Amino acid sequence: MDETIVQMVCNVKYTDCCSSNGMSYIMIISDMDANEFRSAAKQLVDYIADYIENIRDRDVLPSVKPGYIKQLIPETAPEDGEQWSAIFADIEKVIMPGMTHWHSPHFHAYFPTANSYPSICADMMSSALAVIGFTWISSPACTELEMQMMDWLAKMLDLPEHFMFSNGGKGGGVIQGTASEATLVTLLGARNKTLAENGNNKELLTKLVAYASEQSHSSVERAGLLGAVQMRLLPTDENLSLRGSVLSEQIKRDRANGLIPFFVVGTLGTTNTCAFDNIPELGKVCEEENLWLHIDAAFAGSAFICPEFRHHLNGVEYASSFNMNPHKWLLINFDCSTLWIKNSEYIVDAFNVNPVYLRHDNQGQIPDYRHWQIPLGRRFRSLKMWFVFRSYGIKGLQNHIRKQVVLAKHFESLLLKDDRFELSTPVDLSLVCFRLKGTDALNEKFVKLINDAKCIHLTPTRVGGRFIVRFAVCARTTEDRDIDFAWNEIQRQALIALTQ
Ligand code: PLP
Repeated sequence: MDETIVQMVCNVKYTDCCSSNGMSYIMIISDMDANEFRSAAKQLVDYIADYIENIRDRDVLPSVKPGYIKQLIPETAPEDGEQWSAIFADIEKVIMPGMTHWHSPHFHAYFPTANSYPSICADMMSSALAVIGFTWISSPACTELEMQMMDWLAKMLDLPEHFMFSNGGKGGGVIQGTASEATLVTLLGARNKTLAENGNNKELLTKLVAYASEQSHSSVERAGLLGAVQMRLLPTDENLSLRGSVLSEQIKRDRANGLIPFFVVGTLGTTNTCAFDNIPELGKVCEEENLWLHIDAAFAGSAFICPEFRHHLNGVEYASSFNMNPHKWLLINFDCSTLWIKNSEYIVDAFNVNPVYLRHDNQGQIPDYRHWQIPLGRRFRSLKMWFVFRSYGIKGLQNHIRKQVVLAKHFESLLLKDDRFELSTPVDLSLVCFRLKGTDALNEKFVKLINDAKCIHLTPTRVGGRFIVRFAVCARTTEDRDIDFAWNEIQRQALIALTQ
């Protein structure tokens, strides 16, 4: 081997030999072996459990400034592989200083994002299997478990039969990455359906018009932009709810102007205040006008597994599609946004491109989920649903929701006893919207004081031009004492805001 080139790396794990053009190469690859993986992963699991258990000890918001990580790690990747011990040590040094601790019981911003141990285990398993389940044959378990899990959850939510695979019709469910993707996918499906009904005349695209409430999430407006159609954001009533009469009057005006109404998004549990659009009224209008009704229940949808909150879903039988995020409130870690479609052909046909390399013998007998989404690749996400549903059971999940609603009520009761504060909207589910009596400027100062102190974190919003403060019960481990802790901090900062 006189012409051998030997490449040395400091962390030698295995060697391989290959030759080309008369040259032999010894490739020395730094690779974590199975035994090292066992010990590294166990160390990491202990770290994760300690992190979650002791998370209250950390400031909920970080103190770093933009660009901090550049100061802590090299400009380029290491030439030679490093030891796991060095990588592990850097989690605390490099990553933790820049963390906003979403799973701290002192985090009350945005909406909850789910986190549970069974779900983390499932993510670990999914990473280990590392399949890309775009077609049935690319991993039958990935497709078939997803179908079953979507039916399980549909039954927990008491969705109409036509959304379930077990019904044997054209309906079914699919896991999307986010609610934003779900809205876009259904908008594109509805666009396709309407064009098909109008002789596939692509020139009509500029005439298509979609509707949602002015309280809907920004991702709805964005779906209109991405789908290249007009999206009208309609005014709501005094309960911040979109009503059927507002929709039908706008449709009449648009038709009179030669436009083609085709798609409506109804929101159940708006991001601003957890308001609910009037789905039975919107549904009737959509039925009369032949429009696709999509329901976005990203946050609130999880609560509908409890019979006492299921009434919010009345009218879902009119919907062509329904979406909620178990990754918000159903203890299934991001990303898991569940979308049910009444007639999947509209989605499948909208995205169907069929190269030879993706075909298989059993095509057509069972869904190939690549047609139900925008990307091709997809992780084995239904494992998270399976692990979580089996670990908690329906009762455990219902009790998680109920506990968080009770905690929000506890916060509301504390607030109502202090006449310096007022509720901004009635409290529904686990979000409390409130403000200090006084000006917007006072409330802006108040929120800044709270977030600067980093003991708790909350986020404001604006509704009807007014600045309001949102208090969401987020972390799975939140208890009464955390609500009391937050309330003390809120009172402390209110005093400063009012006297400074
Ligand atoms: N819709 C509503 C009502 C939401 O509250 C949110 C996020 O909070 C979204 C959509 C967007 O969710 P995602 O991040 O899954 O796209």
